[in-house]
Amino acid sequence: MTRAVFLDRDGTINREVSFVARADQFVLLPGVHSALGRLVDAGFAVVVVTNQSGIARGLYTEDDLARIHELAQQQLGHLVRAFLHCPHHPDLPGPYGGACTCRKPQSGLVLAAQELLSLQLEGSYLVGDSARDVLAARGLPLRTVYVHSGKPPREELAQLAAANFAPTAEAMDLPAAVDWILRDSSGEE
Ligand SMILES: [Mg+2]
Ligand SMILES: [Zn+2]
Repeated sequence: MTRAVFLDRDGTINREVSFVARADQFVLLPGVHSALGRLVDAGFAVVVVTNQSGIARGLYTEDDLARIHELAQQQLGHLVRAFLHCPHHPDLPGPYGGACTCRKPQSGLVLAAQELLSLQLEGSYLVGDSARDVLAARGLPLRTVYVHSGKPPREELAQLAAANFAPTAEAMDLPAAVDWILRDSSGEE
């Protein structure tokens, strides 16, 4: 069974903007491509798990999102094993409205990826820039890294504290998170 590093998308691998509706709004953060390469070289499956309520909001379609992820794969040398997204929003009407089990902080996307790709959660990691991302690991045997490369960290960390859930580690950005993961997973801590 393969261990995984579950990554949030916006603010973790690409620049945080409110909604990425078009491919030209998807801008990789510095050092992300080589950081993913180091994870893959170490034997991890890299899986992106992302809330994309812009679909429920009608800002872009499933087809638009598929095109954005295709472009992301090209920019990342196809190092991402899979992109899984939640298109829903609980407060909206329509086919993508209403409650779901996949929108982070719920764990549905992680569990779907585990099933789909036969991943082992023990020894796996989750990285994200929002409280919601880190909370998606609650109840699962994942170690978590909160990165400061996206949303304002003060608010997100306050939300985590309010939820009484601490990330295993914090890092400035994904390359630094990968440094930590590779040290942690090789028992050098
Ligand atoms: Mg994010
Ligand atoms: Zn959902």
